[in-house]
Amino acid sequence: MDENKILEDINSCIDCKNCNEVCDTFIATQNPFQSPNGRLQIAKKVFNGGDISEDEKFGLYTCTLCALCDLTCQQNIPISKIIHASKAKLVEQGKAPYEIHNKIIKGIVDNDNSVSGKPEERLDWLPETYRGEEKYEEADSDTLLYLGCMSSFRVKESATASYEILKEGGYNFKILKNEPCCGEYVYSAGNLTLAKKIFQENFERFKKHGIKNIIVTCGGCLYAFNNVYPNYLNDWDINVKHIVQVVYDLAKEGKIKLNPLNREITYHDACRMGRKIHGMDIYNEPRELLANCGLTIENLEKNRGNSPCCGAGSGIRGIDSGLCIDIGAQLINEINTNEIVSSCPLCVFNFRYVNYKKQLGKEYKYITDAILESIKTQ
Ligand code: SF4
Ligand code: SF4
Repeated sequence: MDENKILEDINSCIDCKNCNEVCDTFIATQNPFQSPNGRLQIAKKVFNGGDISEDEKFGLYTCTLCALCDLTCQQNIPISKIIHASKAKLVEQGKAPYEIHNKIIKGIVDNDNSVSGKPEERLDWLPETYRGEEKYEEADSDTLLYLGCMSSFRVKESATASYEILKEGGYNFKILKNEPCCGEYVYSAGNLTLAKKIFQENFERFKKHGIKNIIVTCGGCLYAFNNVYPNYLNDWDINVKHIVQVVYDLAKEGKIKLNPLNREITYHDACRMGRKIHGMDIYNEPRELLANCGLTIENLEKNRGNSPCCGAGSGIRGIDSGLCIDIGAQLINEINTNEIVSSCPLCVFNFRYVNYKKQLGKEYKYITDAILESIKTQ
């Protein structure tokens, strides 16, 4: 972002503080440094070359980059983008990120994942029945099923179910034996130099394997490939879809058969399934699919483009797990059904973490896991 434009945008703030009313981190902490309006004032110092305090830096780094505040600003200030740009500026000045970010980034560089997964366990999710026949990079397809760190290591059934549904629907695709991290974590932490290097290397690798289409399971990967990579790679030309969109088409074409599950669930819209993915609102497809699985869908009071963050956006759990739990619990406590379904494995993972910490007694499912259950139901 152009720094003069950033300062111009910040100076156009009329201090109405409407943005603060929707900000989960401010609602949870009541700390002005952890509000959109307060963060803009910190950003102003950063871009004017001033020093900021530890509390102010913490304020910037506890933003989930959920972009809810952007929707409320009558001055059209791209608040979340300015907050991210401030983090990048601090990294450029050698003042950020935090040690925990650097540790996770080292894991990405050394082991190709952001979740401390062991490389030898990367493909543990692959169903036993397909292990013998899987051709990986050598498969004759220009479409890659890209699982990402969360599905590969932490919410493995999201990878397994997505893979099995594509097989069931006769979809032709390949997977990589040693998949790289998309780099979204590095980008969000503000290390743009390394992020750009990762984007370039990944693109080269995708091209080497003849990949023209990518199917992702994670909202973070979708955001990275669709909204960030094109800003840094002039020739990025890979078509990227979320697994929900592909499964939706398979169901429409009658290639998979859905059977009734007959229970109630609440569907949570991840911010990286719509609000953050400009021009790609994936709100109707998951609801239609789940309804066709015989599931009655409850919505959160704020849903679709206004849906709250799960509490784990932009890696805030690493620096303030308490805040992450508070935001997640606030959301879960609003939910009446026992089961919550999401199309983002990071949200599912965080909900389960909050559930465990607060003993909330609910169940959390990744969407293709629910759909596969419906396919397998007689
Ligand atoms: S909503 Fe916009 S104008 Fe109002 S305080 Fe927030 S940033 Fe400033
Ligand atoms: S992006 Fe989300 S967490 Fe960050 S300031 Fe805006 S509303 Fe708050």
